[in-house]
Amino acid sequence: MEANFLIDERCGGCRFHEYPYKAQIPVVIDGKYEERHFTSDSDVWQIIDLIIKETEQSNDEGSSFNIAESVMAQLPFFACKNIMFDRESQQDIARFMYSKQFNTPPYSGSYGEQPKKWVEKSFMLNNLIERQKAKAMKHG
Ligand SMILES: [Zn+2]
Repeated sequence: MEANFLIDERCGGCRFHEYPYKAQIPVVIDGKYEERHFTSDSDVWQIIDLIIKETEQSNDEGSSFNIAESVMAQLPFFACKNIMFDRESQQDIARFMYSKQFNTPPYSGSYGEQPKKWVEKSFMLNNLIERQKAKAMKHG
């Protein structure tokens, strides 16, 4: 399955292109924006998780931010967008599309028993896909 439609173009080189690197994260922890060392994709996903949580929290308090938009808007400050092209992400996207198409949970068990990380990721992927669809429709 071709999942590259999620992001328009692959990055050809940026300051976060290769690990390790240092970047200030766009999420406030204990009242400050920390600078962190990034050594692998999982470090980046950790920050993405924080952004998702922060966005959900402000939505609980009455805002209505689109989670995927929030992530994509903040990603350039701490990561290369190619993270969305990595193998694990591609597999997740494929698994997500399959489970959506056949209306089955990607892992056995009810929604509440799905791994938390997967639930967050698929929520974000769904947002991304809907966003791309809306964009495609607008263009014709
Ligand atoms: Zn890059």
